[in-house]
Amino acid sequence: MIRRPPRSTPKPSSAASDVYKRQVERLTMALALNDVMEKKSSLDFKNQAFINGNYINSVTGKTFESISPVDGSIITSVSECDVEDINIAVKAARDVFEKGSWSRMAPSKRKKILFNFADLMKKNILELGLLETLNMGKPITRATGDIAACINCTKWYAEAIDKLYDDVAPTSDNLIATITKEPLGVVGAVTPWNFPLLMACWKFAPALATGNSFILKPAEQSPLSALRVAELAMEAGIPEGVFNVVPGYGPTAGKALGTHMDVDKLGFTGSTEVGRYFLSYAGESNMKRVSLECGGKSPNIIFADAPDLDHAAKMAADGMFGNSGQVCDAPSRLLLQKSIKDEFLEKVVSYSQPWMPGNPFDPNTLMGSIVDKTQTERIMNYIDKGKSEGANVITGGDQVLQDSGGYYVSPTVFKDVQNSMTVAKEEIFGPVLCAIDFENEDEALQIANDTHYGLNAMIWSNDLNKVHKLAKRIKSGKVLINSLSDGDMSLPHGGYKQSGSGRDKSLEALGQYTQTKLTLIEVK
Ligand code: NAD
Repeated sequence: MIRRPPRSTPKPSSAASDVYKRQVERLTMALALNDVMEKKSSLDFKNQAFINGNYINSVTGKTFESISPVDGSIITSVSECDVEDINIAVKAARDVFEKGSWSRMAPSKRKKILFNFADLMKKNILELGLLETLNMGKPITRATGDIAACINCTKWYAEAIDKLYDDVAPTSDNLIATITKEPLGVVGAVTPWNFPLLMACWKFAPALATGNSFILKPAEQSPLSALRVAELAMEAGIPEGVFNVVPGYGPTAGKALGTHMDVDKLGFTGSTEVGRYFLSYAGESNMKRVSLECGGKSPNIIFADAPDLDHAAKMAADGMFGNSGQVCDAPSRLLLQKSIKDEFLEKVVSYSQPWMPGNPFDPNTLMGSIVDKTQTERIMNYIDKGKSEGANVITGGDQVLQDSGGYYVSPTVFKDVQNSMTVAKEEIFGPVLCAIDFENEDEALQIANDTHYGLNAMIWSNDLNKVHKLAKRIKSGKVLINSLSDGDMSLPHGGYKQSGSGRDKSLEALGQYTQTKLTLIEVK
């Protein structure tokens, strides 16, 4: 049965319109619903594995269904890779690495090809964005914005790579010692569905720029944009075997990459639970390097002396409900100083209203669907759990637009949350904000750090001394002061504690795809 997409949301209110504008401004085109729907009707899906420059079926011939959470329809059947397919991909990636056609290419040439790649993504931005909207339900404006971020990321690393010099050590006169960076070899990546191409791009751009071969296992919920982009990589001039995509499930294809004896490094983004597996896969196999970008439960601390409470409230809602709350560093624990709690919550509830879900293909929609049925049930279970543990829903809390056949949850705010409750401890990964009260700075710090995650933290206050002290004591990879922006590609992204290890973005990420070699020459 073909189901209709859900009704469109009304035009965003002024509360959310500048978020919308920012997203649109990141694009080089203005979107109209008609254009989006016309393009959607002409989509051609790449649904086979991409190995050694060719689309091929999996060795077993098995496939899995790719289901759209927009309306519950089946998009296509995708090749299901397993151990044998991973072996073939690793061999192709290793062979081309040893051949040197990419790994030993002059950085200035790799740069040029990566620029071509970025240009091809730009040319196909609407198609790639549509594939993500269809596959995981994020609004088309946001999806194309994410592709714009991939283009920017690819160019950033391409631009950097021919400007980095190696070192000559300050040795005695009869020695010449160089310390050089070399690519690792075959890099595997296993990525999540919340930003399907962007999370992969944060890995493939630095990995390719430094000369590695790359094998991506995208999330089973959202493989379509990665499968299409593989073809663009080839068209750009990246040699066969350097960029491979192996769709499939985690415990089979993902594990096969993680345990492979000839994969030199595995970059993982996903849950903390699965991140642990990759550490043991490496230990059980060849001790490959592992970098982990895992979950979060980030505190957003609002003091009574925040410079602009209204703006802080708007950011609290925008930060929580963007991408339907399916964001690793979302400000999901809202820590409110008691004296401003009621006033602030009123504002947050008001700013959450423009985030009511709507048709993801409508460029005016701010919040689309949840990725799938399982995740929707998980979110609804957490909402029930929050209520049963004594927290109170002050807005939302419902599954909505059910007659669309898709999966949508209204923006939800809980008050009276204790940090010991399940909804404050566990990552919900949905549009659910949990407000917790605090009395003073010490209590705020204690609550902020009372979590096994450490990805992000936000502090809103005008008191420089207080902010400085807290920023140093909060255990997280990022602390944002009076801001929700995490800046551009020049800034590292990653976590403390069980939010992971290693960093994506910035020049720091390049170090994760290279190894250091000392070469020493003794001269007479
Ligand atoms: P997930 O951990 O369930 O899956 C991530 C990837 O791991 C998928 O490709 C999946 O197929 C694979 N996988 C699952 N089980 C596996 C196994 N046993 N062996 C090998 N691979 C396996 O995560 P998800 O639901 O796709 O994404 C949501 C999670 O990702 C959240 O926890 C979120 O916080 C996290 N995330 C973190 C960041 C970050 O930068 N820190 C960014 C985005 C998402």
